[in-house]
Amino acid sequence: MTFVCDLHTHTAWSDGTLTPTELVARAHAGGVRLLAVTDHDATDGLAEARAAAVRLGIRFVAGVEISATWRRQTVHVVGLGVDPGETRLQAGLARLRARRDWRAREIGARLRRKNIPEAYEHARGLVRGNVVSRTHFAHSLVRRGLVSDLRQAFRQYLGRGCVGDVPVEWAGLEEAIGWICGAGGVAVLAHPTRYRVSSGQLRGLLTEFRAHGGGALEVVCPSHKPADIERMARLACAHELLGSCGSDYHGPEQTWTAPGKLPALPPGVAPVWHALRAA
Ligand code: AMP
Ligand code: MN
Ligand code: MN
Ligand code: MN
Repeated sequence: MTFVCDLHTHTAWSDGTLTPTELVARAHAGGVRLLAVTDHDATDGLAEARAAAVRLGIRFVAGVEISATWRRQTVHVVGLGVDPGETRLQAGLARLRARRDWRAREIGARLRRKNIPEAYEHARGLVRGNVVSRTHFAHSLVRRGLVSDLRQAFRQYLGRGCVGDVPVEWAGLEEAIGWICGAGGVAVLAHPTRYRVSSGQLRGLLTEFRAHGGGALEVVCPSHKPADIERMARLACAHELLGSCGSDYHGPEQTWTAPGKLPALPPGVAPVWHALRAA
C-alpha cells in the first residue's frame, strides 16, 4: 500500500466544520498515516488534534496556513512542523486575526447597504475561536436562505470583485515565512494554481519564496489535474523546493474530497515529509 499523507486540513477552529477529534478520526478512516492540521491564522486546534492522532496511531504534524500578501494578491503559506508556543509566530497570527475581524465588520457594513442586515453578527455567531473567515459569512448566507450553497455565496457576495471582496494587507511574504521558520517549521506555498498570476509571475513568486527561506510547494492538491501536478513538480525541482500534498479538507460538505484522497507525489520531487519531525 502507498504511504497516505495529507499535509493541509482545517478544523472548526478556523473555517472547517469538524472538531479536531472528528477530523483526525476521518483521516484515520481514510487511511492517512501522516496528517497535518493547518488552520487559517490560528493554532488552537492543534493540541486536541495531536492527542487524537496519538490515540489512533497517526503521525501528526502541527501546522498553520498563514494569509499573506504578495504584490497586492492574497497567497497562502502553510507552515508544517511549527512550535505553536513560539512567541513571534503567535504575535503575527494575532495581528492577522485582528485584521480578519476588521475586514468582517467591513463586509457586514457593505452587506447592510445591500439590504442584508447583521451579516457580521450572524457570521461571528458561527465562529468557534477567533478566526472569522469569509466562509463563515458564506455559511450564514446559506442558513438565512439568501443563497443555495457556499459556491453561490462566493460567486454572488464574497468572491473576487463582489461586494464582500474587501482588500486586506495580510502578512508580507517574507514575514510569513519568517514566522514559520522562526517557529522551527517548513514554509509551503499552498495551492499554487489558485492565484491569478501569469506563469512568469508564478516563477517570480517561487524565486522570492525560496529566497526568503520557503521550503516547499504544494504539488498535489485536489484542484490539480494531472498536467498541473506535472507542471508544479517541474517548478518545485527548478526552484529547489520540496513537494507537499494536501487535501485542503474543510469538512464532509466537501463531498468531492476527503482527507488523504490525493494522487501520489511524482517520483522526481523530494517529499517535504522527509524534512518533518512528526509525533
Ligand atoms: P478568507 O481566508 O476569510 O478570505 O476565506 C477564504 C476561504 O474561503 C478559503 O480558505 C476557502 O476555504 C473558502 N473559499 C474561497 N473561495 C471559495 C468558493 N468559491 N467556494 C467555497 N469556498 C471558498
Ligand atoms: Mn478555508
Ligand atoms: Mn488556502
Ligand atoms: Mn486551506
